Amino acid sequence: MTETVVVLGAGYAGAGAIKSLENHLDGDADIVWVADHEYHLVLHESHRVIRNPDVRGSVRLGVDEIKSPGTRFIRGSVTGLDTAEREISLDDGSTVSYDYALVALGSRTAYYGIPGLDEHSLTLKSLDDALSIHERVKEAAREGTPEDPATIVVGGAGLSGIQTAGEIAEFRDSRRAPVEIHLLEALEEIFPGNDPELQGALRKRLVERGIEISTANPITEADDGAIYFDSGDPLEYDVFVWTGGITGRDCLTDSDLENDHNRVNADANFRTSNDRVFAIGDSAIIDLGDTPAPPTAQAAWQAAEVAGKNLARETRGQVLDTWTYENKGTLISVGEAAVAHGIPGVPIGTFGGPAAKLLKKGVAARWIADMTSIGRAARAWPDM
Ligand SMILES: Cc1cc2nc3c(=O)[nH]c(=O)nc-3n(C[C@H](O)[C@H](O)[C@H](O)COP(=O)(O)OP(=O)(O)OC[C@H]3O[C@@H](n4cnc5c(N)ncnc54)[C@H](O)[C@@H]3O)c2cc1C
Repeated sequence: MTETVVVLGAGYAGAGAIKSLENHLDGDADIVWVADHEYHLVLHESHRVIRNPDVRGSVRLGVDEIKSPGTRFIRGSVTGLDTAEREISLDDGSTVSYDYALVALGSRTAYYGIPGLDEHSLTLKSLDDALSIHERVKEAAREGTPEDPATIVVGGAGLSGIQTAGEIAEFRDSRRAPVEIHLLEALEEIFPGNDPELQGALRKRLVERGIEISTANPITEADDGAIYFDSGDPLEYDVFVWTGGITGRDCLTDSDLENDHNRVNADANFRTSNDRVFAIGDSAIIDLGDTPAPPTAQAAWQAAEVAGKNLARETRGQVLDTWTYENKGTLISVGEAAVAHGIPGVPIGTFGGPAAKLLKKGVAARWIADMTSIGRAARAWPDM
């Protein structure tokens, strides 16, 4: 009987795995793709929507543009995964049976138990989130005045926080909006854990854009008008976006897969504690020896290629490949500007200017082209 491979999620991990599976399975098994939206969101460029909602057409790629006609797509929100029954349950009460499943459900925002954070902050994990931030910033800007500007706060200065603050600055400057932007980081420096030269280059560009940076002062509480800190005065805000961390999806709480805060533990071949379930992307903590794979788009799309191949090999009883993560450098936007770091083959460690911007655009365009077509990537180019 033909086996069924079910892929859960339509992010970099899920969409990339579908492409790879179609390629490597060559019709030998049925592919079912389950996700809560009928499109793949180019999440690592979703912050562009905060400045200009028209960009949504460029970062939203329909599943029919990605998958082959033979792959069955089911729109639904996963509510559970039963490894004993080999069944995935969906929010409409239906179930999907699998022979092999790939968990690629991404992550959700972590609040670390800080009182009021969940209730009072906006997040950036979806297209709707980006559109809400746009609306809220626009509304606050309308009510601000040059004497009493609106205060927009971004909590967490990682990839999402830095790029979000940069887009809000671009929004402010393009509309001459009376808006003050604060970027808060609990640790000693922005983009924690990264190269000091890169941190310095990002800080310089953020400060040039008039973004107030506060580091080494963790948020202890938030209410509907102010953010409270370990030390110093509270900060009153009009809009508060929280991008300070990630954790696993709630729908995996009851599954018996080994996990850490609902992020599923997987080996370097993506197999989890259950032989028939694999996991990649932000949903997974992939054991690569010293450190796990980073929760980035870059890691997810690299893993997706090998995961598709491994699932195909598994259905044929072949030995699985071991994945090694290759760090191809970091590209971060601060509005229209970008900073590049650690790009293989480039002798300068950290650089900005047109070269960094071109690289950043090029990476997004390449992904869109790989998932859909060169024409689609060309149309998206001005928005990246
Ligand atoms: C603003 C921003 C900027 C970023 N910038 C960069 C960057 O410059 N470089 C970089 O490498 N990384 C960047 N990242 C991180 C990167 O986007 C993530 O690491 C990446 O999206 C992870 O891919 P994924 O496929 O695991 O998860 P996701 O892309 O989050 O995809 C998860 C998928 O699962 C679906 N899903 C979730 N729950 C359910 C459910 N219950 N049922 C059905 N479907 C579900 C979602 O709708 C989505 O389709 C950025 C992230 C953000 C938010």
